[in-house]
Amino acid sequence: MAQIIDGAAIAAAIRTEIKEEVARLQAEHGVTPGLATVLIGDDPASATYVRNKRRACAEVGIASFGYELPAATSQDEVLRLLRELGSREDVHGILVQLPLPDHMNEAEVLAAVPLTKDVDGFNPINLGLLGVKGRQAPFAPCTPQGCIELLDRSGIRIAGRRAVVLGRSAIVGLPVALMLLARDATVTICHSKTPNIASVTRSADILIAAIGKPRFVTGDMVKPGVVVIDVGINRVADTNSPRGSRLVGDVDFDEVSEEAAAITPVPGGVGPMTIAMLLKNTLIAARRQVV
Ligand code: NAP
Repeated sequence: MAQIIDGAAIAAAIRTEIKEEVARLQAEHGVTPGLATVLIGDDPASATYVRNKRRACAEVGIASFGYELPAATSQDEVLRLLRELGSREDVHGILVQLPLPDHMNEAEVLAAVPLTKDVDGFNPINLGLLGVKGRQAPFAPCTPQGCIELLDRSGIRIAGRRAVVLGRSAIVGLPVALMLLARDATVTICHSKTPNIASVTRSADILIAAIGKPRFVTGDMVKPGVVVIDVGINRVADTNSPRGSRLVGDVDFDEVSEEAAAITPVPGGVGPMTIAMLLKNTLIAARRQVV
C-alpha cells in the first residue's frame, strides 16, 4: 500500500510557517503583505474562490483588497485598475480571477499584471521564464508549485527521475512539466492527441495527472513504485453520498495505490496546496520589497 501524501496536513503546516513569517516581516520592517483580488462578473464559483482566498489571507495576517467589477466593465478599465494596483506600495500581489467575461482578451489582461506582483504566475512572461535554463521566473503558478512542494516535503527526489505529465494546460500541465525539467527530471508531456498513453505512463517514476478525466489512470497504466500526484478534480455521481455526488481525481486511487510508492488523495491532496502557494508567493513579493 502506498504512502498517502497528505496535502491538507502539508498545506496547514505551510500556512502556519507563513503566519510566523508575516508576523516577523511586520515586526522587523513594518510591512504587511497585501494581495489585491480582481473579480469581474458574477460567476458564483469564481466569487467563492476569491472569498476563500481572502479568508486564507486574513488567517495568516496578509491584507487583502477586493475589487469586484461588473461583467460589462471594459477591458480598458481593467487595465487601468491593474496599472493603479501595480503602483501601490501596500499591494504586493495581484490576482485576476479567471475566467474573464467573454468580451475580454485574457492574454492582454494577464500580461498587464506586473511581473513583480504576479503571484498567480499567469503573466505569459513569468510562464515562459519557467522554461529558460539559468533564469529564475519571479513567480511559479500556484497549483504546479503545490505539486513540487508536495514532492519535496514528502522527501521524494526529482533530479534524475523520469517524470510524465498528463495535460498541457497553461495553468497546470505545462508549468509543472517545466518546473520538473528545471529540477533535472527527464520529462514527457502527454495530451489528448498522444497515442498509447499507457506505454508512456508506465515509464514514469513520477506521474502528474492534470487532465480532468475521472479515474483515467488505472492500475495497469503505472509501474510499481511510481509516485503519483493527482491534480484532477472531477465530480461524479455517487448514490451513497447525501449530495448524490462526490469528488474524484484523474487517477483511480484504489487501483493505483496498490502499485504506487506514494500517492495524493482527492480531495485532500493537491487541492489545499494551491491557496497555500498563493499566500507563499504574496509573502515572497512583500519580502522582495524590503530587501
Ligand atoms: P484543461 O485546461 O481542460 O486541460 C486539460 C488537459 O488535459 C489538456 O492539455 C488536454 O489535452 C488534456 N487531456 C484531456 N483529455 C485527455 C485524455 N483523454 N488523454 C490525455 N490528455 C487529455 O484542464 P486544467 O485546467 O489543466 O485542469 C486539469 C484538472 O486539474 C481538472 O480536473 C481541474 O479541475 C484540476 N485542477 C485542480 C486544481 C487544484 O487542485 N487546485 C487547479 C487547477 C486545475 P489537449 O491540450 O490536447 O486538449
